[in-house]
Amino acid sequence: MSLQESEENTAPTTNLIISEHLSSKSKKIKDENEWGDRQIGFIVVGFVSILFFYTYYACVILMIPHLFLTKKTGYIIQGILTFIIYHFFFVLAYCSYLKCVFTDPGFVKKDKIMHNETETLADQRRKKQRRHSWGIGNEYGYCDKCEVPKPPRAHHCSICQRCVLRYDHHCPWVNNCVGFGNYKYFFLFVNYTSIGCLVVCILIIIRFLTLRTFQTFVEDGLSAIDVQILVAGFLTFAFAIATGSLAGLHCKLLSSNSTTSEDHYKGNNPYDFGCKRNMTELWGSNRIQWLFPTNTNVGDGYSYPLNNEV
Ligand SMILES: [Zn+2]
Ligand SMILES: [Zn+2]
Repeated sequence: MSLQESEENTAPTTNLIISEHLSSKSKKIKDENEWGDRQIGFIVVGFVSILFFYTYYACVILMIPHLFLTKKTGYIIQGILTFIIYHFFFVLAYCSYLKCVFTDPGFVKKDKIMHNETETLADQRRKKQRRHSWGIGNEYGYCDKCEVPKPPRAHHCSICQRCVLRYDHHCPWVNNCVGFGNYKYFFLFVNYTSIGCLVVCILIIIRFLTLRTFQTFVEDGLSAIDVQILVAGFLTFAFAIATGSLAGLHCKLLSSNSTTSEDHYKGNNPYDFGCKRNMTELWGSNRIQWLFPTNTNVGDGYSYPLNNEV
């Protein structure tokens, strides 16, 4: 994926010399509502949704009623707790997923560039050489493909054919870029899904260990329900591994306020304030709201607080 461009720390000048340039070239930025070439990717979104609801079917329709049918207090309590915990994670995970799919990831808007621009076109032109290290922060780059100035931490997505604010990566599973606008939803999606999947896996293991003995399996074989639950178990386990590894990676990235595309950068990260403050800078001071897929983004994504300014 593209990396932030820039080479020299040229002195920023104020006010635009580039508005003329923008008016002629910014037509290359696509319409803000355009989805690019992503229509076909909604097949993947459908597949992931089927996976979500198949595990729901296996857990809520097949397994939990089975616990109640035992008429044993311990299993009934286990069934009630599982019902509540599972729905908590399922609802939050699937809502986060849908929000991530359908929310603008932060496509760069030309009118915002003009309002926020602080460097001359000559400065932009000099920043052509790609780099692999953090700069001084909040420097504008230049996108050769859109042919417009590129805000700090924004990168061009070759699939969306747009520059995306605080670009993280283009995710085929959500058929969308992950950037400033929907990063919170992506983060919650992978975390809630991995935890929810683990809950289902544990429940399946408990079911097979406690409700039926090995002897009954040998004598009766697997019932149709057992087979469905086992298939759901394997799918859920695979889903848990996939989303769990992403959840771990993004917990690490969030703790240092960096993105997947910035993860290899060398030098001091000018946006890193420490884990707790990073979350506040991204999602606001109300910690309860961090847990829910609601828009609590701080700022507009065109500039970020720098740790050398505090
Ligand atoms: Zn671009
Ligand atoms: Zn993209």
